[in-house]
Amino acid sequence: MKKIVVIGGGPGGYVAAIRAAQLGAEVHLVENQHIGGTCLNVGCIPTKALLHAAELYHAITHGASQGIKADNVTVDWPAVMARKRAVVTKLVRGVEGLLKANGVTVHRGAGALKGPRTVEIGGDSPVTLEADAVIIATGSEPVRINFPGADLPGVIDSTAALSLQAIPASLAIIGGGVIGVEFAALYRSFGAEVTVIEMLPEILPPVDGEIAALIRGHLAKQGVKFLTGARLSEVKQTDAGLAAVVVAGDKTQEIVAEQVLVAVGRRPRTEGLGLEAAGVAAERGRIKVDANFMTNQSGVYAVGDVNGLIMLAHAASAQGIAAVEHALGHRSAYHVNTIPSCIYTNPEVAGVGLTEEAAKAQGIAYNTGTFQLAGNGKALIESGGTGQIKIISGAKHGEILGVHIFGPRATDLIAEAALALRLEATVDELVTTIHAHPTVSEAMGEAALAVAGAAIHWPPARKS
Ligand code: FAD
Ligand code: NAD
Repeated sequence: MKKIVVIGGGPGGYVAAIRAAQLGAEVHLVENQHIGGTCLNVGCIPTKALLHAAELYHAITHGASQGIKADNVTVDWPAVMARKRAVVTKLVRGVEGLLKANGVTVHRGAGALKGPRTVEIGGDSPVTLEADAVIIATGSEPVRINFPGADLPGVIDSTAALSLQAIPASLAIIGGGVIGVEFAALYRSFGAEVTVIEMLPEILPPVDGEIAALIRGHLAKQGVKFLTGARLSEVKQTDAGLAAVVVAGDKTQEIVAEQVLVAVGRRPRTEGLGLEAAGVAAERGRIKVDANFMTNQSGVYAVGDVNGLIMLAHAASAQGIAAVEHALGHRSAYHVNTIPSCIYTNPEVAGVGLTEEAAKAQGIAYNTGTFQLAGNGKALIESGGTGQIKIISGAKHGEILGVHIFGPRATDLIAEAALALRLEATVDELVTTIHAHPTVSEAMGEAALAVAGAAIHWPPARKS
């Protein structure tokens, strides 16, 4: 029986462990904090639990336009936090149960490589495991930037922002990436004055530019302030609270806020892992891997955030599965172009495949089709018709290259687009797939029709 040791129990590691057990291996999983990793404990799940509460609060307090009136609606913050913790605990227990049911041995402690396939688990009485394959899945941690005032109380990272004692009156967010935007939406919905400070000209750099501008405009309408092309120089303590000193061009301004959230990216967590001892190569902190997620050392794999390829939970899990399948001599498949990226604002943002900017940069001849959700009945009911679906397809064959959505249910709708990419579907195949009425998904077919300027529920472009 092959022996697999997995270091790290996040979505990369625990999924790899379960898959390896399914394939008949003896599996050991080493975790030094909480099973479920960043995602379940301080990432995907708690943020979405809080965003769901924020959405509910917003719906109740803004229901008058739909004839729903409620007076004296209040937020019981400790109860919101307790619900978030309850969801996290339930999921973590669930994963622990799955590991047990699959016969995975869980070791509590920090794992370190003592040789390529030798793992030592620290603690009072260290344990050494020899394996046929080792899967490194130790995840990532927030990037810390140096600026005067970085250590002031109230300057926080995303983990702390998930456990605030109270809703802050004001919040300055350094970094307009996914974390910055989700926390901006979250705390703005609960009434905080929010300012996002982004050094690039536009927020959400990897998102299709048109969609990023739409979500920025939407959040701005809800009262979030954006300073783009802006750099933080320091944070000072003032009588009014913290003051983030921000330089944009030749202008310097101070954003006074109760809390300053720094969300400028995450970096692989490899400290103390013994990479050098094991001869595992890394570049700028990221463990280097090949197409099977194997490192330069045979039988040693690195999956998820720690290889720095793409920092998403579902990508980590897919890589974990691919790595153990390869390690155990099975065929595996990992289709990078089908990985969706989702942002859980209200309405949501989701994209898969090439952005228009990427298609241009790669010199690909493409067409686009865009359908405004104002022309979709279900979107009109759910979000007043805000949003759009944009499809990018090859100019010659009409193959789907990318789909980008801003609108209600975007994070679920994107699954159809991911499957379309996986099956190398064309716009014609999307058009001839019949979508139920009334659903937001109808707009996917309409966006495909729009590639040829033939959307049904939108007026044709005026002929000049
Ligand atoms: P992790 O989840 O970080 O797990 C690594 C595990 O390894 C941890 O449990 C850690 O304790 C353990 N570990 C580390 N070193 C050792 C060691 N030496 N020995 C033993 N154990 C060790 N992604 C999404 O797809 N969707 C989202 O909505 C989303 N929201 C997010 C929100 C926030 C606020 C953050 C911070 C991240 C979010 N992400 C989201 C990203 C997602 O959390 C990560 O991509 C994902 O958790 C990566 O999984 P992983 O298994 O590679 O690493
Ligand atoms: P990010 O890389 O998405 O965004 C960081 C942003 O900070 C960028 O826009 C960057 O230009 C900006 N920035 C960097 N340095 C700056 C500075 N000094 N001043 C101002 N702006 C600066 O990183 P993140 O938002 O911290 O998220 C980390 C990872 O977590 C991402 O890879 C993301 O995929 C993942 N995540 C995913 C989700 C989701 O899937 N819904 C949610 C949260 C986090």
